[in-house]
Amino acid sequence: MKKILDFPYSTILVLGLAKSGTAVAKLLLKQNKHVRINDMKTEENDSILKELKSLGADVVVGSHPLSVLDEIEIVVKNPGIPYENPIIVEARERNIPVITEVEIAYRLAGDSIIGITGSNGKTTTTTLITKMLEESERPVKVAGNIGVVACEVAEQLKSNETLVLELSSFQLQGIEKFKPNIAVLLNIFEAHIDYHKTFDNYKQAKFNIFKNHTKDDFLVYNADDEIITLEAKNAKSTLVPFSIKNKMENGAWLDDEYVYFKNEKVISRKDIVLVGNHNLENILAAVAAAKLKGATNQGISKVLTTFQGVRHRLQFVENVHGRLFYNDSKATNILATQKALSSFDNPVILLAGGLDRGNGFADLAAYLQNVKAMVVFGQTKDKLRRLAEENGISTITVEDVNEAVIKAYEISNEKDVILLSPACASWDQYRTFEERGDMFIQAVHKLV
Ligand code: ADP
Repeated sequence: MKKILDFPYSTILVLGLAKSGTAVAKLLLKQNKHVRINDMKTEENDSILKELKSLGADVVVGSHPLSVLDEIEIVVKNPGIPYENPIIVEARERNIPVITEVEIAYRLAGDSIIGITGSNGKTTTTTLITKMLEESERPVKVAGNIGVVACEVAEQLKSNETLVLELSSFQLQGIEKFKPNIAVLLNIFEAHIDYHKTFDNYKQAKFNIFKNHTKDDFLVYNADDEIITLEAKNAKSTLVPFSIKNKMENGAWLDDEYVYFKNEKVISRKDIVLVGNHNLENILAAVAAAKLKGATNQGISKVLTTFQGVRHRLQFVENVHGRLFYNDSKATNILATQKALSSFDNPVILLAGGLDRGNGFADLAAYLQNVKAMVVFGQTKDKLRRLAEENGISTITVEDVNEAVIKAYEISNEKDVILLSPACASWDQYRTFEERGDMFIQAVHKLV
């Protein structure tokens, strides 16, 4: 177990238990800190609570009395808890610092961190960087928003290992001294306004990724994004831009044939398996970060010539008798489906539909040039059928994704792309978008 450094607090409130709160509480208890836990929902007889109590935690559940802050020196807040929570408001009144657990991860992992943030592409880029380092035989661990609690992994990190962290704006809003030695800033679109209240707050949370940087740290940033480029001018970091449009002497870029890092050719573009311009951005960001950490061109090529995408994110599934099946079940809104449709030149059979949020689908119309047929399902099937008819595209209505795969295959020809990119959430028929994507993958495998 690593000792937590530069953390002069002995009495800590962990607010919100969930997965990260539990991990942080256990970690702090092991470090001989006094830990109080406060959670609204968890019940007294919960087995995790029992375990934490047996380890010495002081537990208050079922309500948020302000007295939980008495004697507390710092609050570790679950990233999902909004800043209007009365405990957080009171903590600020009392000048008690409020952090999220990535701050603790930093006090354990120090300069070993590569942090990735952005509105879109975080998981893909985090995965690419991790794989590129692995294939280059650089010891590496991955954690953060990708589903593994950052401080838990940081505690076990060996001195030669790199920690690749996917970071959400929620996590980044609650940092104090946290800094990833290599920060990656992919893009900024308006998102999560319910939590952050204004776009400006959201941007500031994202920009926190480099706020503690010095010249010894690197900021890998998207030079095609105007908002980011403007803000990067204020960074103290060493700047490493990436661009799919222009040559970047100090960063990652491409021409029609190759991907480059600075003036060095890294890989031929025709060898890259991932599709979509958005993925080219993720690839350039990943190449820059991985090269800064000593990845080899050979290691990078191994990843890019084989990696078929993160599961459910424009993931290449299978070539069945010349038909190319892609699973983009994560595309739960129109914007994501637009991106997916822009990624192909071949004829596409689009599988779409799902939860009806009341919106129309007219914004898809301009992206349907290559779509030769649509197979529709779920609550929005009639709306999508109308969209197809208006654009002269034939449709088949089916019950679910399984049937959609079968019908799409029946009407397909060689070289067709059969794409699940529903443009809708999955909750009308499936528990999660993962469940929907898994049904697609299974149905495709049954065809084989
Ligand atoms: P995140 O972890 O930020 O949600 P993912 O890598 O899981 O991002 O990708 C989710 C979806 O976001 C993809 O299916 C795609 O539609 C879109 N996307 C991915 N990368 C980018 C990018 N660089 N720019 C814009 N959209 C992207």
